[in-house]
Amino acid sequence: MMEMEQYRSEKLHEECGVFAVYDKSLEENVVADTYHALYALQHRGQESCGMAINDDGVISYHRDLGLVNDVFTRDVMMSLPQHGRMALGHCRYAKAGIPRRSEAQPLVVRHVKGSMALGFNGALLNGAALREKYELDGAIFHTGTDAEVIAYAITRHRLKTGSIEQAVSLAMDELEGAVSLVVMSPRKIIAARDRKGFHPLCLGRKGDAWLVASESCAIHSINGTFERDIKPGEIVVIDENGLRSDDSRCGGKTGLCVFEFVYFARPDSVVDGASVHKARRRAGALLALECPVQADVVIGAPDSGLDAALGFAQQSGIPYGIGFLKNKYIGRTFIQPDQKLRENTVRIKLNPIADTVRGKRVVLVDDSIVRGTTSKQVVQLLRDAGATEVHFRASSPKFLYPCYFGTDVDSRENLIAVNHSTEEIAEMIGVDSLGFLSVDSVKKIPEGCDLDFCVGCFTGEYPVDCSNCSCEKDKCDRKLSE
Ligand code: SF4
Repeated sequence: MMEMEQYRSEKLHEECGVFAVYDKSLEENVVADTYHALYALQHRGQESCGMAINDDGVISYHRDLGLVNDVFTRDVMMSLPQHGRMALGHCRYAKAGIPRRSEAQPLVVRHVKGSMALGFNGALLNGAALREKYELDGAIFHTGTDAEVIAYAITRHRLKTGSIEQAVSLAMDELEGAVSLVVMSPRKIIAARDRKGFHPLCLGRKGDAWLVASESCAIHSINGTFERDIKPGEIVVIDENGLRSDDSRCGGKTGLCVFEFVYFARPDSVVDGASVHKARRRAGALLALECPVQADVVIGAPDSGLDAALGFAQQSGIPYGIGFLKNKYIGRTFIQPDQKLRENTVRIKLNPIADTVRGKRVVLVDDSIVRGTTSKQVVQLLRDAGATEVHFRASSPKFLYPCYFGTDVDSRENLIAVNHSTEEIAEMIGVDSLGFLSVDSVKKIPEGCDLDFCVGCFTGEYPVDCSNCSCEKDKCDRKLSE
């Protein structure tokens, strides 16, 4: 029987992208800018998206399940206010279960103290504890999201202080975990990043307008100019008086997610001073030094392994080749006619270019191995196309521990490297040799970034104490790296 299958790949996912624009002069079309910026951030979340528009203090919004071009149809775009000063956009990947429309963001709160729209990237370690505390105090939540907990925390403080700025500031003191947050009130946009700076958040300009984005690629996509990164711990307020910053929480050891450079961020972004593309090439070059092999051609697994494969080829002197054609027209949802074809999902998405690999010893570079099932299928495609040897190189270390900070690195039982040695994994995925980038080297790849990095999913040592984490990934030996 034909069935519609929600395709969730083995790849890891970042869980959100945020964007906001404040244009005092009313010269920019904030709706069009947000729409285009969300396109540029689509890689950070593909299950739902939304936009809130502030037209002279009145906040309206549209959000739904689907990609940006599914949700913002021509009719929807025409129905949105066209003359706002501010807009806030969000795209989301739901960690588990069926994506729900009610969990799409921006979250919009109507309250006696004023309306507010909120977009959040990250995850709270104390989300469940705060939720319980607020519920015992009378709160009623409609979703299971951390965004709703944050919105409630801000609203409580706003009620007491009467100031949205103070409310966000007090809420940030209360929230534990990874928080890259943008809030839009009737008169302000406020952007905040947790003290560790787990996930990126940056500022840009377009004419007189101020822009806030998860990644610089969103700023450049709307012809804006990158201004600077928002520092870990910083809160930025943008209103009719311009931009002001509260950096009283900045300083101290940071914990930027190193996997942003390996896989999550777009290669044309610059995150906290480091080019993502250069970081990936450097990962490939370091991998060639750490795990050398005699071979005839280096290829990358599309798209995540391409930059690192180039770095590997340049460092090793082995020619670089295009090993696969990726079908770009397959979305996350497609018809799966039967069980047999379902097993061929990888073949539908990727077709090897036989001329590149036939009769050759191939180095296949990809960003990581998580569960190993996709890697095995990709390797088989190369064998079927005539590769005589396949040597797999991963441009990140082995995943051994879960992530608690807004990505979907899974519980330990689903990570292939937890229970298998390198040799065993090589045998399971059918390669002649297998190598992983070391933890020391992965920390060196973001050249120009002077932050400290989180490498918790590789080492089990996290930048913050997550021993009281309320999530269900309860089978790991968590340690605090400080
Ligand atoms: S645990 Fe891994 S994926 Fe999660 S924030 Fe740290 S480095 Fe990134």
